[in-house]
Amino acid sequence: MVRLEPETGVLRIGHRPGRDKRITTHVALVSRAFGASYFFLSDVCDISVLRSLAYIEDMWGKGLKHFSCGLGYMRYISDWKSLGGKVVHLTMYGETLEKSIEEVRGFKRPVLIVVGAEKVPREVYEAADINVSVGNQPHSEVAALAVFLDRLYNGEELYIQYEGARAVIEPSRKGKIVKSMGGENQ
Ligand code: SAM
Repeated sequence: MVRLEPETGVLRIGHRPGRDKRITTHVALVSRAFGASYFFLSDVCDISVLRSLAYIEDMWGKGLKHFSCGLGYMRYISDWKSLGGKVVHLTMYGETLEKSIEEVRGFKRPVLIVVGAEKVPREVYEAADINVSVGNQPHSEVAALAVFLDRLYNGEELYIQYEGARAVIEPSRKGKIVKSMGGENQ
């Protein structure tokens, strides 16, 4: 099993139940598929997000060590820091990805990556060890997170086999080949 360094968690803030359930689910799935170990959804628990994530984990294996929801965003940030972790907030106003990625690796500490929905409170910018931009245009928390994690892990995260998967994909130029862990094609 590949061990990705540094270990990362993703904190999704500003989720609006109803309106954001699809995009927050995508933030969670990108966290899992691009190598993060933890996913935190602040301030609310949205059962539809948690159910989708649980379904994917059950089918495709346990990518996340833990997910949690409902605590205030500053609580997640301060708890992470009190355990010795560092905090990176993704925002188009931040330092460029090119200039900051080596600094983030150099922390040699677990990294909490914070992504927002709409306007992110000032205290998050201040609590972050560094605010990082993924390009200087507004786009999406899903895209920003995927690019950031892929740069951090240099692509090593992309084809990890997760433990407990009931189905595994065999890369194929045409069609879909999915093997059940029982050995039969599906
Ligand atoms: N004005 C916001 C900002 O500060 O980036 C854009 C809001 S966007 C709908 C939602 C989230 O996507 C942001 O909170 C941020 O985490 C992420 N995001 C969007 N564009 C980004 C960029 N160019 N670089 C880094 N993160 C970005």
